[in-house]
Amino acid sequence: MATPLIKIDKVSVVYDKGRPSEMVALKGISLEIYPEEYIIFFGPSGCGKSTLLYTIAGLEVPDSGRIIVDGRDLAGLSKSDFVAYHRSRMGMVFQAFYLISSLSVLDNVILPQMFLQERAVKRKERGTKVLERFEIANLANRLPTELSGGQQQRVAICRAVINDPPMLFADEPVGNLDSRSAEKVMDLLYELNTRDKKTVILVTHDSRYLHYAHRVFYMKDGELVREVTNPERTQVREEKVQPFVAHALAEFARFYPHLDEGDLKAKFLSHYLMGIKDEEVQERLERFIRKRVSGQINRADFILSLNKPFAEGGVGLYEQTTLRLVDEADKIVDESKFVHEKFEHFPEKYDTLASGLDNVRNSLLSDYEGSLTPEELDRFDTIIKARLEGSIDHKQFRELLNKSWKEGGLGLHHQTAEKFSTRLELMLIDYPKEVAVAAPGDRS
Ligand code: ADP
Ligand code: MG
Repeated sequence: MATPLIKIDKVSVVYDKGRPSEMVALKGISLEIYPEEYIIFFGPSGCGKSTLLYTIAGLEVPDSGRIIVDGRDLAGLSKSDFVAYHRSRMGMVFQAFYLISSLSVLDNVILPQMFLQERAVKRKERGTKVLERFEIANLANRLPTELSGGQQQRVAICRAVINDPPMLFADEPVGNLDSRSAEKVMDLLYELNTRDKKTVILVTHDSRYLHYAHRVFYMKDGELVREVTNPERTQVREEKVQPFVAHALAEFARFYPHLDEGDLKAKFLSHYLMGIKDEEVQERLERFIRKRVSGQINRADFILSLNKPFAEGGVGLYEQTTLRLVDEADKIVDESKFVHEKFEHFPEKYDTLASGLDNVRNSLLSDYEGSLTPEELDRFDTIIKARLEGSIDHKQFRELLNKSWKEGGLGLHHQTAEKFSTRLELMLIDYPKEVAVAAPGDRS
């Protein structure tokens, strides 16, 4: 297992301590960042993103807790050691660019090299190379004010990487840019992560950019409220024994960044059960599903609520729809519990896979109207196993089910493939256990 590059251990930051204006900006935050990761801190204005970024970069001193970078406690460095360390290891990019308006673009870029005992010609050469790499060498002799915002930010990025630091910190780097320039700058930072292998730590309140990251930490009121792993990027960090990243849920989270985990699960489940119909109905259904999966209401009350007319605070579903839906919801929660009990320590426990696999396959097929030959069942098992191991994501799972036999698939109708795929993702979500074991009518 790779060792973390940055370890943040119960870090708190309090502004104006002891005064009426006292503000706890960070509340005991802990997290680890691995080399070459792209990490995003995401959340509404004022939630503490910038404070966290500057604290990790050593520019803000925590009131309690520790920051370990490269194996050393930043608090233990003398001021001059810290400055030298920061200069060589950390590049900073800000929303407001912070270029010096009286200096040319090239001089701005080579500014962090002033401390080097080196001839100016040499420094300029290096600066020009970086400008060339980012395709703005033609602007070298211009003044920052003559440049567009997007160009200025690219200059600022050149300045941040001139000393070739392994870590890049960016605070809302595209907050002042139009969406086209923003995308260019974001692509550039992405390239610095993927091609140059720099660890990128970026702050944004804009959910459009979350897909660049390996992992996104959602913040609220000075706390980390959720961590989402991007299923589309190969993870740097080895997954803790947690093979069941419910990819579909993570994707859902991108569209509903403000929701907490329980709400997301409820939304996911309700969309699967109902499909998107009337928004108000959908919303109310979600609320009741949330109550049901978090154990706040029992099965009987759940049925009553779904059945009750909309005007009376229910969802207004027909009795038959209600029963089908409640059964299906319970089944999924049960299956999820089963999957987690069976595979909590997967893949270490290969021996349990065989029996588990049977159950997973059978519950997927329980209401399947077609039939599969023994060869097809074998292949179905292989594909399910691959998904359980996490070696394919839910899209690949769905595609394989849909692909023809010759192409290594099962040739299922795309709607069936879609259904099986969503159903399996739902199983992989960890619903609270006490609900899954609650028999009908329990917990009144
Ligand atoms: P974000 O970057 O998510 O918008 P910040 O980290 O800038 O949030 O701020 C978190 C909270 O701390 C906010 O309520 C903000 O007003 C407060 N804050 C930030 N910097 C200071 C400061 N230097 N002095 C006092 N309060 C501050
Ligand atoms: Mg900020």
